[in-house]
Amino acid sequence: MPCPYASEALRNDIRVMLNRMEHKHAGTKFTVFQAIEKIRPTLEKITKKEKLKECSQCGEPTTEKICKACQMLQQLGIFNSHPLSKSLEGTRQPLQQGQRPL
Ligand SMILES: [Zn+2]
Repeated sequence: MPCPYASEALRNDIRVMLNRMEHKHAGTKFTVFQAIEKIRPTLEKITKKEKLKECSQCGEPTTEKICKACQMLQQLGIFNSHPLSKSLEGTRQPLQQGQRPL
């Protein structure tokens, strides 16, 4: 089930803006891509690489002991109703090296 707020995500606005710019000025997207490729090596050097662990509660990838979703559910006092804690129990595969969470 997609996030109900996905349509309000910033990346949607950026996608629409880039498509408009591309329509008006052909090559805009390629120029943006080239600019990002130029600065990517520098960004990779200065960006701290986090090692992902499994959440001790639900098993989803996290940089902390407990993932943010479980932390919020615990704060709300409804952790036991966390759908992932029951329906996906034992079905999750750990992330492979270089694999990104969905
Ligand atoms: Zn969790």
